[in-house]
Amino acid sequence: MHSKDLNDSGLGTRSVHAGQHADPATGAVMTPIYQTSTYVQEAPGVHKGYEYSRVSNPTRTALEEALALMEGAEHGICFSSGVAATDAIARCLRPGDHIVASNDLYGGTYRLFREIFGPMGIESSFVDMSVAENVEKSITPKTRLIWIETPTNPLVHLVDIARLSEIAHARGITVAVDNTFATPILQQPLALGADLVVHSTTKYIGGHSDVIGGAICTNSEEWAEKLRFLIKSAGAVPGPMDCFLTLRGIKTLQIRMLRHCENAGRIASFLEAHPAVSEVYYPGLVNNPGHDLANKQMSGYGGMVSFLLTDDRMEKAVAVLSGMQIFQLAESLGGVESLINHPATMTHGAIPAEERRAAGLQDTLIRLSVGIEDADDLIKDLSRVLDSL
Ligand code: PLP
Repeated sequence: MHSKDLNDSGLGTRSVHAGQHADPATGAVMTPIYQTSTYVQEAPGVHKGYEYSRVSNPTRTALEEALALMEGAEHGICFSSGVAATDAIARCLRPGDHIVASNDLYGGTYRLFREIFGPMGIESSFVDMSVAENVEKSITPKTRLIWIETPTNPLVHLVDIARLSEIAHARGITVAVDNTFATPILQQPLALGADLVVHSTTKYIGGHSDVIGGAICTNSEEWAEKLRFLIKSAGAVPGPMDCFLTLRGIKTLQIRMLRHCENAGRIASFLEAHPAVSEVYYPGLVNNPGHDLANKQMSGYGGMVSFLLTDDRMEKAVAVLSGMQIFQLAESLGGVESLINHPATMTHGAIPAEERRAAGLQDTLIRLSVGIEDADDLIKDLSRVLDSL
């Protein structure tokens, strides 16, 4: 699949070169945007490998190769969004099957499993996966899929991929890891034992908040075949322009992630020391419960930081959410610009309040996606608002 031999190269080299071959027609260094729906055939079935762009498209192929190589996978399959990628995996289950997922996860994944697949007879249990025994206890003879998000969204908890993969595989259960927060730069789930890696490429991989996309990487021929059949038959494909933008994002993924980690680490320490802040969720902090596991399974702590205010009245949280200048109040994460978010009403509004609270997600939690601006400016922005509370 990979014609440049990058198998022995580091992730920085891979991010720049993976999936990139000089364009056969012109020698263009950057893969062109093949903005075409169809391809000429010399005779029925005689063509250059492409027939119709729902099935495959050269810009998409380049992106799929790049993502697969970044994740150490044989196969990459791209989708029109992260949710479409998650949906494709769940569609491979059958009525009566059961999913075990984290109780702290992206609200849209909860909504998809509960509200779309629940009525189709696919049940889901949401458990605190930071304790492996909880997962073991919730497995039933019908469990077919363990859905891990780590670090989790929005509490940035760590889940032990290797341990849960052992538990799952001993029972013939598939393990999927949503690697959106960590990216392949910080965490390699397939090497830790997972079967499927899922991305919202909308986030760090695209990196510039200008494109929606999703992807699944795997070393399983069987899964790759099922997913390719699904994308051909159900059609949740990304367009060539979106693939081009995502591919361009990947080229700087490593340097962006290094900066996201550095800035988030500084902000987490700043928040931890601020009297207006009662709790900071960031695996890079030594007293964070996930710190040791993060050191074991990640090569950096990521760019996501959540926190609670000492004064837990909602109006104080709203004052912070609306009072920032550099941090913009918006859904999403992982772009070069810093964002601030209120999970309870924004990204996690789809989860019923009682379930959210039971999982430890308080109504006043504030989530930061720390960008790549100057950390001093970001701290000044936070400091101005926190000091005024
Ligand atoms: N997974 C995680 C961890 C997310 O945060 C999101 C979106 O916020 C998704 C998946 C869904 O991705 P998309 O918005 O690209 O459909």
